[in-house]
Amino acid sequence: MPEEKIFVTQSSMPPYEEYIESIKPLWDSHWLTNMGQYHRELEARLCEYLEVPELSLMVNGHMALELAIQSFDFPEGTEIITTPFTFISTTHAIVRNRLKPVFCDVKLSDGTIDETKIEDLITEKTVAILPVHVYGNVCNIEEIQRIADKYNLKVIYDAAHAFGVKYKGKGIGSYGDASIFSFHATKVFNTIEGGAVTFSDHRIYEKLYNLKNFGIRGEELVCDVGANAKMNEFAAIMGLCNLKHIDEALRERKKRYDYYIERLHDVKGIRIFEKNSEATNNYAYFPIVIEDEYGKTRDELYCILRENNIYARKYFYPITSDQACFKNKYKRVELECARKLAKQVLVIPFYENLGISSMYKVISSLKCGKE
Ligand SMILES: *Cc1c(COP(=O)(O)O)cnc(C)c1O
Repeated sequence: MPEEKIFVTQSSMPPYEEYIESIKPLWDSHWLTNMGQYHRELEARLCEYLEVPELSLMVNGHMALELAIQSFDFPEGTEIITTPFTFISTTHAIVRNRLKPVFCDVKLSDGTIDETKIEDLITEKTVAILPVHVYGNVCNIEEIQRIADKYNLKVIYDAAHAFGVKYKGKGIGSYGDASIFSFHATKVFNTIEGGAVTFSDHRIYEKLYNLKNFGIRGEELVCDVGANAKMNEFAAIMGLCNLKHIDEALRERKKRYDYYIERLHDVKGIRIFEKNSEATNNYAYFPIVIEDEYGKTRDELYCILRENNIYARKYFYPITSDQACFKNKYKRVELECARKLAKQVLVIPFYENLGISSMYKVISSLKCGKE
């Protein structure tokens, strides 16, 4: 029998019967999308869970980000300061809005944008800062807000990895002018495909409503040039079901997190990112940083794991500014730390149902890999 493959993640799913029971009413109502009952219910539940004043559900995290940026009506060609150490969606969302990404380096300690390097990148064209709470690691929110206030910039957080994170007792989505979340199948909470924008200014809700539903405001009234980015009812129900089990899922993730930490924290050359002591951990990913003392490179380790049927991932390599579609297109900035991290980081298998024997195998491969 071929050996079982251990993937980096596995989508959370509610018990089969629970989902089937929950979607039955759709066969009576025939109301499958267009801001139905379950769309509204999930918006309300998520506002509570994420502890945010307002939230708009979207068809996916990328459209949430694209439309969140669009909702601020920035003039074409203006600049947004952002991180290149992220999933490609972050940079695409800026460029697809006909705005210019200005890449800022990150901190080696946790992979988030280096707030001390932001001010030097500001020009008359800068309109916003778009940082990423990468792996759920919280950015330096106070300093970023101080800079934004000083130069009158908007702050839009890509919180795709930060579902459920609390910072100083408040939902992470309540900081900045807006934050976006992804509910993609591979994220810590999923609606199969889905996402949301959180914000505190109600006018953004109205604007996003137009942008996600063609700008339609009445049977004969279209008042804005909107796209179509609505979440459908099957997805919303998947979200409602998964949300019922999220606390249990997080408890299971925490156990596995502690198990990994205990066995990996003293392995020479394997570094674990620093966590902000005032932020909660949402146990979304388990990234490790492979340093020189490890004796092998990240890429060599990646191959060794592959040979053992362990599918770790190089999130995020290459950095987005070095991808074929963006290379040499934007302002040149020193991105030494981002490039260094991208060559060192490896996200290892981590999810709530990950078996103990699989974890044992991952750990022994990481330890043997050294030899
Ligand atoms: C997943 C992700 C997105 C995009 O979300 P989708 O739901 O897949 O469209 C955006 N930014 C980051 C950092 C992500 O990891």
